Amino acid sequence: MQLKLLPLGTSSAIPNSTRCQSSLALLLPSTTTLLFDCGESTQRQLHRFRTSIKRTRIHKIFITHLHGDHIFGLCPLLLNIIEGNGGLVGATDPRLAGTTEKQKKRKETEPDVEIFGPVGIRAFVRANLRGTYAVLDGWIRINELHPAPSPDGTLPDPAHDVYVRELPGRNILPTHDSCWTDILTTPEYTVSAGPIVHSCPSVGYVIQLAPQKQTIPPTYKDTLLEFSDHFKSVGIKQPLSLLRDVQAGWEPREDVPKEVVSEEGIHLPNGRVLPRLGMKRGRKITILGDTCDPSPLTEIARGSDVLVHEATNAFLPDLDTSLKATDTYEVIEHRTISRGHSTPEMAGRFAARIELGQTGGLEDDEEKGVLVLNHFSSRYEDDMADGEDGRSMKVMTAIRECAVKAWKEAVEKEGREWKGRVECARDGVEVVVK
Ligand SMILES: [Zn+2]
Ligand SMILES: [Zn+2]
Repeated sequence: MQLKLLPLGTSSAIPNSTRCQSSLALLLPSTTTLLFDCGESTQRQLHRFRTSIKRTRIHKIFITHLHGDHIFGLCPLLLNIIEGNGGLVGATDPRLAGTTEKQKKRKETEPDVEIFGPVGIRAFVRANLRGTYAVLDGWIRINELHPAPSPDGTLPDPAHDVYVRELPGRNILPTHDSCWTDILTTPEYTVSAGPIVHSCPSVGYVIQLAPQKQTIPPTYKDTLLEFSDHFKSVGIKQPLSLLRDVQAGWEPREDVPKEVVSEEGIHLPNGRVLPRLGMKRGRKITILGDTCDPSPLTEIARGSDVLVHEATNAFLPDLDTSLKATDTYEVIEHRTISRGHSTPEMAGRFAARIELGQTGGLEDDEEKGVLVLNHFSSRYEDDMADGEDGRSMKVMTAIRECAVKAWKEAVEKEGREWKGRVECARDGVEVVVK
């Protein structure tokens, strides 16, 4: 079972020759795809990397903040997914009348695409769709994360002024420590969100996957085969069929005697019991928007297995020709924070702070935390940009090392063993988490 992150755009503010503006797809072990941010080239990137992801599988889009490099591709993508291209052709347009074949098949209570984002995302989408005379052949729903009601205790009515193909969304208020917990719950995953510090309201999303059945250890199979004759003598024609009875959620079967399988597990003729396996906790993934301080969501992100954190600027004295002679790490960090952003070191320290990969409960051979850096200054091109000098590769390796060093030092300072992985996101290159 693999979890994949597919970065579609990893540049800060403006694109360069190898990086587009912010967008990231999270591909869950099923076919579910969640999209985080939607910079201007997202649609083009989905076409480029379509072997990994299908646009028609995108039903949930999470926006971290309203800066243009994170949302200017949102409405074009909606038009693509929900087939709205072409604009309004008049009052008789079958999309308006709700008489297209697609609309006849769908219930009006289910949106084709549901969007979550900070306050203002609803107005942005409505204005863009109306302003371009677009009519979708399906339905959207937009849910806004509100920090609090206005001083008079009111919230905007989400049904007021709805777009022609919009189902009224939710105004979501904080539930705990300024965070919005469980804003979306499905049998497969739950999403929470928390505020993070940036130059405009910005959020991070925490995705908790549902508990999973454990992989059955090979020793179980070996043991059942070892006592194969015994099981056959008590009426179990296929002893390996008992493997299904060791998983959580077991229910007694009529054709299996209680003496063979009970609440405890499978009883062996030597008096031992093969114990029933518990559920394995699901992975937890935290995906942050732009930030110079994500600490307000520390508690809901604690124990994550994967953290996506921006690293807009770095202090690379041997490689960065744009540095001034007086620049030090402290100067660069201060300048980066003043613009609402982070350095790789800050990302590494936050990984330690939320105990990334330290929670345990996963199998021993699995990874102990993955930190994915993204949202790089456009002066950092990725490895693909390399000419003969290999400079871009060296820059990205150095950025990665900055985060590794800071994360490792912070973990070891607390007397814990560090076993992490740091990846610098590249457009179209999947980050696979076992
Ligand atoms: Zn940005
Ligand atoms: Zn921003």
